Amino acid sequence: MTSSFPSALPDPSALLDLDARHVWHPFTQARTAPEPQVIVRGEGPYLYAADGTRLLDMVSSWWVNLHGHAHPAIAGAIARQAQELEHVIFAGFTHAPAVTLAARLAAELPGRLSRIFYSDNGSTAVEAALKIALQAGFNRGETRTRILAFEGGYHGDTFGAMSAGATSGFYAPFQDKLFQVDFVPYPATWAGDPEVEAKERAALSALDALLGDDVAAIVLEPLVQGSAGMRMARPAYVDEVVRRVRAAGGLVIFDEVMTGFGRTGRLWAARHLSEVPDLMCLSKGITGGFLPLGVTAATEELYRAFGGDSFAQAFAHGHSYTANPLSCAAALASLDLTLSPETAANWERIGAAHERALPELAAHPHLERVRRCGTILAAEIRGAGEYGGNVSLELRQFFAARGLLLRPLGNVVYLLPPYVVTDEQLGQAYAAFLDAAQTFGRPG
Ligand SMILES: *Cc1c(COP(=O)(O)O)cnc(C)c1O
Repeated sequence: MTSSFPSALPDPSALLDLDARHVWHPFTQARTAPEPQVIVRGEGPYLYAADGTRLLDMVSSWWVNLHGHAHPAIAGAIARQAQELEHVIFAGFTHAPAVTLAARLAAELPGRLSRIFYSDNGSTAVEAALKIALQAGFNRGETRTRILAFEGGYHGDTFGAMSAGATSGFYAPFQDKLFQVDFVPYPATWAGDPEVEAKERAALSALDALLGDDVAAIVLEPLVQGSAGMRMARPAYVDEVVRRVRAAGGLVIFDEVMTGFGRTGRLWAARHLSEVPDLMCLSKGITGGFLPLGVTAATEELYRAFGGDSFAQAFAHGHSYTANPLSCAAALASLDLTLSPETAANWERIGAAHERALPELAAHPHLERVRRCGTILAAEIRGAGEYGGNVSLELRQFFAARGLLLRPLGNVVYLLPPYVVTDEQLGQAYAAFLDAAQTFGRPG
């Protein structure tokens, strides 16, 4: 696992010392967390650390990387754009990268999502979608104000996104500042789940009890709830939820921040569904993992609800870096790669490799709820963490010692690789998965 390349850093230990004094890391308890690893370089599915070790990035660096690290096509597009126009205020001005990207996304998005509103990240994409849904009704003089979401859903860490994801945990200090959202049960399922139909029926009756003429919108992660632990639902259930919300007059927001750009084996999770949303949120993979960018796509009909003679009807929302040309250039280069036949073949190949690995994982007595959607594979290690401790941290270290970057969610181990991962590299990950089950789990 060691390789001989010169470290780009003068002194990693000095860097770690400064890090410990000045840096505040996300989702990290600094008191107990192990020292962060200094990464100096990335290439393909590998990250190279200052100590000479390399890690196979099986979580696409928090689900953002699509085509491998430091991909030259995307790096080149950013470099060229940086020499032309790095940024311009997007109110009153426009530019080719943003316009081209909007048109190209509109051509690929489901249904009639022809309007692209840019922001910076997944949370802001969700905030914008919620605000568009609420203001569209307000502008039309409607009194719909209720927001629905799936139980366990995660939509980001800003206040609106936290409200819509209130059941995903971590929000106790802010609970009384979150707005009211009603939660629809999420019938998570897996390979060979005998109760899926009963769960779906119960979930749909719970939904019916929540629906009324005051529902403004539902926001949901279609097919796979990421942060909740790669919880998967059947397309028919999601379609039925969409139909019922729409029949009650509510808008439908797909949060495809994680599922977008091929994770589910198709460009969008929506491409597994028959129903289409009114609003769709994209981020994470949109630039191939190079630069932050958020997109909220809306139908022309929603866009028209903001037209009027007064500014009061306009969407008074924007961020300093809205439609940043560098991010848009990265997104365009990444989209070229994403729409190539090679990438579609990789989705197929990774899915097929997962499918071949499934029986052995499912047969392991320490693993349960083995599931796959497209390029995402997940299973729960039975009994892991039952007696407290920090099992996901221990698992992380277990995998790191085997040269793998994996970041389990509790006892859920999942693979969400960049599409350039090879079958051999996937094989290493499956083997480590089984080893971890053997080490951390217990029979049912
Ligand atoms: C990560 C994520 C978000 C938030 O995106 P950020 O860029 O981290 O703000 C929102 N929705 C889903 C489904 C996500 O996975």
